[in-house]
Amino acid sequence: MKTAAYAIAGLLLLWTALGALRHLHLKKTRKGKVICVDESRCTGCRRCCRRCGRHVLEVVQGEAGARALVARPDSCTACGDCLAKCKRGALTLVERGEQKAER
Ligand code: SF4
Ligand code: SF4
Repeated sequence: MKTAAYAIAGLLLLWTALGALRHLHLKKTRKGKVICVDESRCTGCRRCCRRCGRHVLEVVQGEAGARALVARPDSCTACGDCLAKCKRGALTLVERGEQKAER
């Protein structure tokens, strides 16, 4: 019984350590990046805007309809949380300075 408890505790410890390593790796690889919107793919659904707690993205009405834009690039931490929310594959993380000016 004790062995099973030790095994479970070990697995939990390993899981936590792997999670921390993954977090550090993502932080390192995403350093210096910022979110970018591919207008041709965006439908303006706002899913990304609702996900981003830093209010980086906004949806505006343009000639071609609603689309997201990076309203506050300086606030983007490149966490990537919004990426999975976009079903259109319109979001990518790019090097800062590579994104085109919006607004
Ligand atoms: S989730 Fe994708 S399609 Fe929807 S507004 Fe954001 S970028 Fe555009
Ligand atoms: S990468 Fe993170 S901070 Fe940047 S827009 Fe997406 S959710 Fe917001």
